[in-house]
Amino acid sequence: MSRELWKPRLIRWANTGPGRGIVLCTRLDLPKTVLGRKILKRKTMNPSFSWLHKIKGEVRRDELLSAHTSMRIGGPADIFILPRDMADLATVLKYRGTTPMFVLGEGSNLLVRDRGIRGIVVSLKESFKAIQGPLFDTGDAQEETALLRVGAGVKMSFLAKYAARFGLTGIERLAGIPGSVGGALIMNAGAEGMEIGKVVESVIRITPSGERETLRRDQLSFHYRKTVFPSEEGIIVEAALRLRKSDAAGVQAGMDAHLTRRSQKQPLTIPNSGSIFKNPPGDAAGRLIEAAGLKGAHFGQAAVSLKHGNFIVNQGRATARDVISLIEHIQKTVKDKFGVDLEREIIFVGE
Ligand SMILES: Cc1cc2nc3c(=O)[nH]c(=O)nc-3n(C[C@H](O)[C@H](O)[C@H](O)COP(=O)(O)OP(=O)(O)OC[C@H]3O[C@@H](n4cnc5c(N)ncnc54)[C@H](O)[C@@H]3O)c2cc1C
Repeated sequence: MSRELWKPRLIRWANTGPGRGIVLCTRLDLPKTVLGRKILKRKTMNPSFSWLHKIKGEVRRDELLSAHTSMRIGGPADIFILPRDMADLATVLKYRGTTPMFVLGEGSNLLVRDRGIRGIVVSLKESFKAIQGPLFDTGDAQEETALLRVGAGVKMSFLAKYAARFGLTGIERLAGIPGSVGGALIMNAGAEGMEIGKVVESVIRITPSGERETLRRDQLSFHYRKTVFPSEEGIIVEAALRLRKSDAAGVQAGMDAHLTRRSQKQPLTIPNSGSIFKNPPGDAAGRLIEAAGLKGAHFGQAAVSLKHGNFIVNQGRATARDVISLIEHIQKTVKDKFGVDLEREIIFVGE
C-alpha cells in the first residue's frame, strides 16, 4: 500500500496545483499537463494571502471551477473559499484589499471561462443553510400569510419543497431551479409565472466594507431575470420571503406537475446551464433557435440540446470557448433569419 502513496499526492497536485515555488510553464510558455489536466500559467496578482489561516471554513488554491458549475466547465480560481459563517465573510472582506472577489452560488447560471477566475471566489455552497419559520401572520382575515427567513446558501429546490410541506404557495414552481437562494435573488429566478421577486420582503447583504445591510422590498426592483439593488456589490446572506397559506395537497400537486413538465422538456441528465438566452418579448428563444434549424448544432463538445433549443449541453469535454463560439453562432443565425437579437441570460465570468 505504501508504494501507492504517490497516487493521491499526484491527483491532489493535479487538482490544486503544486503550490508556490514550482514553475509549471516551460520556457516556451506552453501549458504543462499533469494527469491529463492542463495547468496554465496565469497573471496571478500573488498578493499576500497570509490572512487566509484566519478562515474557519475551507480555503483551496487553484480550485477547478468545473467542479462547481452545472455546465461542468470552468478553469481554476486562484483562491476558493467556503466560508463557515458570517465571521469568515467579514475576514475575507476585511483583508482582501484590492484583490477581486466573485461570489458563487450553485454555479447554475454561469459560464466560467477556461483560464478561470483571478482573485478570490467565495462560495456559499456549504454555509448559510438555515431556514427559520414559517412564522404565520393571521392579522389579516382576508389572507393568511407566513414569513420564512432563509439563508442564501439554501437550495431553491429544497426551499420550495420545505414551503410546500406547510401549504405555502408562491415558490412551488421554482422547485426545479438548481440554484441557491442567493443566486435566485440576483437573477430574480422564475418559472411559469412565479418569480422569487414577487415574494421577497427583505434581503440581508454584507457590504464590501463588511457592514450588514437590510434592504427592504421597496429598495429593490425586480425585472425579467434581474434584480436591481441600490448598489452593485455585496454578498447576500439571507432573505425574508412572505408566502400565502394555501392547501398543502394543492401546492404539492402543483409542484409535482411543474417538475414533470420540466423533465419532459429539458435535458436534465446532461450538464447544462439552463436557458442560455432570455426570451425576447412575445416569443421564446427556444422556438426561434429551433426554427433556425440550430437544434443539434455544435462546436467541439458543446451542442444545442435536441430536447430544448434554448439549452446548450456539455457532451463531455466541452470548453468555455466551445460554448461561447456556439452562442455567437446562434445569435448571428437568429439575427440573420429573423432579425431578433437574443440577449444572454447566462453570465460569463473569468478569463
Ligand atoms: C437545468 C437548469 C434549469 C434552470 N431553470 C431555470 C428556471 O426555470 N428559471 C430561472 O430563472 N433560472 C433557471 N436556471 C438558471 C439558474 O438555476 C438560476 O439563474 C439560479 O437562480 C442561479 O442560482 P445559482 O446559485 O446557481 O447562482 P450562480 O449561477 O452561482 O450565480 C449567478 C449570479 O448570482 C451571483 N450570486 C450567487 N449567490 C450570491 C450571493 N449569495 N450574493 C451575491 N451574489 C450572488 C453570482 O455572483 C452570479 O452573478 C436553470 C439552470 C439549470 C442548470
